[in-house]
Amino acid sequence: MEEIRKILTQFGKKIVEKGLVAGPGGNISAREGEFVYLSPSGYFLDEIKEEEWVKVNIETGEIYSDLKPTCEISMHLGIYLERKDVKAVFHTHPPITVGLISSGVKFKPFFPEFVVILGRNVPVVEYVIPAGKEIREVVVREIKKANVVLLKNHGIVAVGESIKEAYTRSLMVEEAAKSLLVGIIAGKMRYFTKREIEQLEKLEAEDYRKALLKKSK
Ligand SMILES: [Zn+2]
Repeated sequence: MEEIRKILTQFGKKIVEKGLVAGPGGNISAREGEFVYLSPSGYFLDEIKEEEWVKVNIETGEIYSDLKPTCEISMHLGIYLERKDVKAVFHTHPPITVGLISSGVKFKPFFPEFVVILGRNVPVVEYVIPAGKEIREVVVREIKKANVVLLKNHGIVAVGESIKEAYTRSLMVEEAAKSLLVGIIAGKMRYFTKREIEQLEKLEAEDYRKALLKKSK
């Protein structure tokens, strides 16, 4: 069994443990060469066995499994075709993030890891119907220049150069949302200034990010 399926199984469990999806919501995948392994349709992410990840050819869409891949397969394939650097795509439904962005709260940097791990621009897009051409188009358009896309009234899409990186970004979004929610309740939220963001970006952000994600697969 490929190592990649083992890692996907581990991270599927982590996503559920961390409350980033509930029930059969969300879908994740990872690229290996010309193929991608996707979560099967209708499965809870913490219940997928190593052999159940659905192997699909990225270019042709050919499926090498008896199981049906996630209904968001088109969005996943679109991202891999657009971003050759992306090795993993995680689509989750983190509840606090979804609540905040759907009420129009600004999701902008206000602590260092936000800038370094998520980037200064985290696009928020209006609601579109899931599982179709429209969501693929919207997400692929935004993912050209971002590593995380927030979908109003739905969830988020995070990508990474490794499974761990896509996971870390997914987790960081919801952690940021928790702080943001507390900040808003407690008083007037202070976001980073442009200058503060630039300072962090100059701090050899890339090395910092790599150090944080060390030993990632
Ligand atoms: Zn979804």
